[in-house]
Amino acid sequence: MNSSKIAQAFLRTGRCEDCPVVDMHAHYGPFRGIYMPRHTAEQMMATAERCGVEAMVSSGHLALVDMVLGNAEMAEVTERYAGHWYGYSVFNPNYPGEGARELSLLEDRPTFVGLKFHPSMHEYPLTGEAYAPALDFAAERELLVLTHTWGHSSYDSPSHLAEVARRYPEVTFLAGHAGYGEFDACFRVAAEHDNVYLELTAAYAVGGLVEEMVETVGAHKIVLGYDLPWFDPYYAVGCVVMAHVDDAARRAILYENGRRLLAPRRRI
Ligand SMILES: [Zn+2]
Repeated sequence: MNSSKIAQAFLRTGRCEDCPVVDMHAHYGPFRGIYMPRHTAEQMMATAERCGVEAMVSSGHLALVDMVLGNAEMAEVTERYAGHWYGYSVFNPNYPGEGARELSLLEDRPTFVGLKFHPSMHEYPLTGEAYAPALDFAAERELLVLTHTWGHSSYDSPSHLAEVARRYPEVTFLAGHAGYGEFDACFRVAAEHDNVYLELTAAYAVGGLVEEMVETVGAHKIVLGYDLPWFDPYYAVGCVVMAHVDDAARRAILYENGRRLLAPRRRI
């Protein structure tokens, strides 16, 4: 039996009053006709509440395809749940005009705490010039940037992340999926750069990975996410709760790191 107080609370009740969850990588809305259960805003919030999620940060699926419509939709949805649901403004480097306009709108969207990049989907390298306006903008305001990262990708591998992290020390980067498939390289990037955090979506399911991250990078550099409404938060939280780490590490990953990163960027 796991002697962790946090684990026991989750096993008993499905949540832990003493250790809420902050989810740093969620989405919203339909995606390419894929069936996702409990996908409406109301259902997503209900799922989050049941699992003890204090706050979550989403980027709209629609925004990954159409920034203008999708970011506006995400702003509207998150404002309905202000204080619990926050947003990332998606920046697509293939549309610089619309991208600049979306950046300028961020000031008027008080639930937005940062930017979301998906270089693999947008088929444009994270290190490319077209990302510069967004990175400059994020640096000036010390925003969070959640970027998709994937091992050996031509667009967003750990080496791409290392380059922008070096160029933009004022930006706090969350490495979505922790460089899945090239974990060791991504762990080194996070260990070597104060401004790079590892985000757990999908990576949590790799046996022993949470333990290795804690050992090599430190629990203070890991944040939780599970691509809601794609994946079940119970599975993701369970991977952290049942990992062979101590409760201080569990609390840092599930709650404290996300809370600390959001605190100075929260406007409502
Ligand atoms: Zn995602």
